[in-house]
Amino acid sequence: MVRLEAEHLLPVTSLSVSEPVPSDTLRDSRGRPLRDLRISVTDRCNFRCTYCMPRDLFGPDHPYLPHAQILSFEEISRIAGVLVGLGVRKIRLTGGEPLLRRDIERLVAQLARLGVDDLSLTTNGSLLAKRAAALHDAGLQRVTVSLDALDDATFRRMNDADYPVARVLQGIDAAAAVGLGPIKINAVVQRGVNEHAVLDLARHFRGSGHVVRFIEYMDVGSSNGWQLEQVVPSREVLDRIDAVFPIEPLEAHYAGEVAQRWRYRDGAGEVGVISSVSQAFCSSCSRLRLSTDGHLYTCLFAQHGTDLRGWLREQGVDDSALAARLTALWQLRSDRYSELRTAATAGLRKIEMHYIGG
Ligand code: SAM
Ligand code: SF4
Ligand code: SF4
Repeated sequence: MVRLEAEHLLPVTSLSVSEPVPSDTLRDSRGRPLRDLRISVTDRCNFRCTYCMPRDLFGPDHPYLPHAQILSFEEISRIAGVLVGLGVRKIRLTGGEPLLRRDIERLVAQLARLGVDDLSLTTNGSLLAKRAAALHDAGLQRVTVSLDALDDATFRRMNDADYPVARVLQGIDAAAAVGLGPIKINAVVQRGVNEHAVLDLARHFRGSGHVVRFIEYMDVGSSNGWQLEQVVPSREVLDRIDAVFPIEPLEAHYAGEVAQRWRYRDGAGEVGVISSVSQAFCSSCSRLRLSTDGHLYTCLFAQHGTDLRGWLREQGVDDSALAARLTALWQLRSDRYSELRTAATAGLRKIEMHYIGG
């Protein structure tokens, strides 16, 4: 286990919430229901965030997935439909940068017909201003936009693709204007890189109706050279905010909510923290991931996945056989990486974040 100082541990108010889950619900080997599906629609990205796709490893010669290995929208929708039948209630599109996938609106429309409670997308925001209306019209309910700093120097250093903050802010405004809000804004906080951005972001989005969520830097994949010392514990983030804008904890919206919610005492809205390093939330993790090339992963930190694409394409599998396989996969699931993390596990060869879907 990562050794943590007592002051790095957060109050557990929002994790203790439980909601009744019907007894016939599909559960994994630790009793966790299947509720969330994250679909990575492309392994490509126009950013080179240093903590996700460092440019020296993902340069111009990086071999992206060939077209034939990428799931079609129909294949994705079919798998998602069967998973909805098994309990999935929330679907999030991600990547890579999902807005780089051509005609993504067509996939959104197909998934919207499945009638899930929540259909959302996580984006770096660079292409959002142009696409927000079409995404909303297709049936997308919400977007999460990643933004790690409000000053251009820090943001450009982190995205390593010379993208200015203003473009992302335009995307956020456009998304809010068409009804994709309130918007969640994800900021990864890295020691010595953007700690100062915490207050900037909190100040900027207070009172906007949008919610900034500060994410602890994680040892996803094996390219980013993660070290525990680079993690800024959520407790420290909250203290920084509280010192200027007093906050108090809020109850979770639902069992298994990843972000812990806090509200400004003066009524200016909420902020959140995602503490997957300092306070693992594996015990309520209900997420399954489908990669761009059709592999299923039962944990963000997985080293191996289950290849559905080859099986579906080659064997002419019907939906009941697919449901049986997915059921068995979930029932066998025992992942709890963040509870077991050590300096040694950080060095394992894990699937990269842009590929498995953040
Ligand atoms: N490209 C889109 C974006 O950046 O929003 C979607 C994919 S990205 C992999 C999804 C989320 O993962 C982003 O909010 C990003 O900041 C976060 N992320 C990527 N690498 C991370 C890491 N090492 N630790 C914590 N969060 C990370
Ligand atoms: Fe691209 Fe998102 Fe990864 Fe940044 S975090 S490199 S925007 S996939
Ligand atoms: Fe879920 Fe794996 Fe993250 Fe634990 S480490 S919360 S099991 S994705």
